[in-house]
Amino acid sequence: MSTRQEVLERLTSLRLHQQTGRRAPHKPLLVLLALGQITRGGSSELPWSQAQERLSDLIAEFGPASKTGRAQSAAYPFTRLRSDGVWILSRNVPMDLVGPLASHNVVGRLDAATESALRRDPELVRRVARALVEQHFPPTIAPDVLTAAGLDPDDILQAPGVTPIPARRRDAAWRAAVLQAWDRQCAFCGYDGQLGHATVGVEAAHVRWWAFDGPDSPDNGLALCVLHHKLFDFGALGLDDDLRITVSAAFTARTVTGRTVYDLHGRPLRPRPGTPVPAGHHVAWHRREVFKGDPLAV
Ligand SMILES: [Zn+2]
Repeated sequence: MSTRQEVLERLTSLRLHQQTGRRAPHKPLLVLLALGQITRGGSSELPWSQAQERLSDLIAEFGPASKTGRAQSAAYPFTRLRSDGVWILSRNVPMDLVGPLASHNVVGRLDAATESALRRDPELVRRVARALVEQHFPPTIAPDVLTAAGLDPDDILQAPGVTPIPARRRDAAWRAAVLQAWDRQCAFCGYDGQLGHATVGVEAAHVRWWAFDGPDSPDNGLALCVLHHKLFDFGALGLDDDLRITVSAAFTARTVTGRTVYDLHGRPLRPRPGTPVPAGHHVAWHRREVFKGDPLAV
C-alpha cells in the first residue's frame, strides 16, 4: 500500500536528467497519459503501438522543438520512467531503443501499488495531474495539455494545490505594471479592446516561463492579446535578437483571419518610450525552449 503523500511525491519529483532551465516534459507527459487512462476507468496499461502515436504527438505539440524522430522521442520516457520506480514494462528491454519496444509490442504501466492508490482515490489523480502541468507548463497551455492527455481540465485545475507555500512568491503588481507599460495593448498586433472602462482580452505574458525561473520583472513581460499570448506560449510566435516578431514555419492557417498571423513576421516591437523591452537572455530562453523549429523565411 502506498499512501497518498508517497504517490504524490513519487510522481511529482521525477528525475529529469536535465540542466536548470531546460524543458524536459517527456516523462511528465507519459504520467499524464497514464492518469488519463485510469480516469477513463481503465488501467494505466499502454502498449508501445499506442504510446508511440499518442506520446510522440504530445511531445511534438507540447515539448521543445527537437530534431529527434517521433518514435525515438517517445521511447526515451517509455523506457526511462522505469528508473523512477513507478513504471514497469512487460519485458526487460534496454533503455531508449525503439526496435525492441516495437518488435515485442512491449506494454508499459504504472507499478501496481501506485496504480491501485490512484484508482481508489480520484482526488489523488487530480492533485498529481495539477502538480505536473503546473511544474512544466504555463497556465495558457495547461488546459490543452490535460485535454490531449485525456483528462478534464475543469476538474483537474480546481484540485487543491500541492505546495501550500510556493517556494517563490509571485509579484502581484507585475501584471498590472506590464499592461500599463505596454499601454494596455498587444505588443504584437496592437489589439486594445475595452469593455466599458476595463481592458478585455489583453494579458501579461512571461517571456521565460514562471515555471522555469522566469522572473516577474518588467524585462520578462509583454502585454499580449489572448490569441497571441497562446501562440507565443505554444512556440508558434517568437522574437529574434533584434526584438522582431518571428512566426514558426510549423504554423499554418488557411483563412484570411488565420493568415493575419503571418503578417506579424518580421514586425518590430514598438514599446512606448521608457518601457523596458524583454531582456536578451529571456528571449534566448524562449527561442531555445519554446519556439517551434525554424522561423519563416523573411
Ligand atoms: Zn495580439
